[in-house]
Amino acid sequence: MKTYTVTCTEICAECEGSGYVDNHLWRTLFADLGDGKLTVEFVRQWELDHNLGENIGPEESPCGECDGAGKIVQQVPLASALRDLGVEVRS
Ligand SMILES: [Zn+2]
Repeated sequence: MKTYTVTCTEICAECEGSGYVDNHLWRTLFADLGDGKLTVEFVRQWELDHNLGENIGPEESPCGECDGAGKIVQQVPLASALRDLGVEVRS
């Protein structure tokens, strides 16, 4: 018995193809900062106030869903691909 597969490539829904995701903590920090000036001291105090246990991390990091590629590549059965494309396939 033969099994046919095709390669399916999709834009990653998590990062919308950018390969990076925002660190939501920074959004909260900027909201707390308001019109104030962003300084190292403000960030350190903010980290202490929020009990992070470590530093806040980068503003964005590689997407965990696509490992930073921005797309998901996978092998799918040919019949599934055809059905996805609207082709009627006998089982
Ligand atoms: Zn992604």
